[in-house]
Amino acid sequence: MPYAACPGCDQNIFLRNPKLGDIVYCDNCEADLEVVGLNPIELDWPWDEDETEDEFDEEGDEEEWDDDL
Ligand SMILES: [Zn+2]
Repeated sequence: MPYAACPGCDQNIFLRNPKLGDIVYCDNCEADLEVVGLNPIELDWPWDEDETEDEFDEEGDEEEWDDDL
């Protein structure tokens, strides 16, 4: 079975039928990784373009609720 090394921890991740763009999971470092190359198989973190984690900032607004007292 083909495998590739995790870019985060060098753990070998086995891929049954790898395709470009596939997302695979590394059990060792709990990372989601994207298949970016097939010959040889290369994995990389898929977090380059989408930065839609703005929700974390909203947690800082909770203090405003104190004004209702
Ligand atoms: Zn890993």
